Amino acid sequence: MFCRNCGEAMNDNQAICLKCGVKTGTGNAYCANCGNAVAPNADVCLNCGVAIKNAVNGEYLNGKDKITLALICFFLGGLGIHNFMLGETKKGIVKIVLSFCAGIGGILALIDFIKILTDKYVVDPDKAF
Ligand SMILES: [Zn+2]
Ligand SMILES: [Zn+2]
Repeated sequence: MFCRNCGEAMNDNQAICLKCGVKTGTGNAYCANCGNAVAPNADVCLNCGVAIKNAVNGEYLNGKDKITLALICFFLGGLGIHNFMLGETKKGIVKIVLSFCAGIGGILALIDFIKILTDKYVVDPDKAF
């Protein structure tokens, strides 16, 4: 097979291309079957007729395991951990800020709730909390 990034001939069990250093299957410039240059969005190699897989296994979701990501998103999604794993730093930071603020809001609300119930609540429009 051939490197999809630079067209260099590779062994089938090579994990990365020895010429350009990308992971096997990464890239869209060459046919993995014959090494012929192909259009980036081509579905089939015009030289050998083999179907071109542009979404190579392991590259989808930045190469992260889908099940692992789904679980992390479910349990730690509020902290944006899955976003950081995917290199989406901005999304992750926004999630952390939102969770953090919501958490503070929740705690403040709980304190107010207890104060109100115990008749300790003091109405003071000049205070932020
Ligand atoms: Zn290469
Ligand atoms: Zn080909």
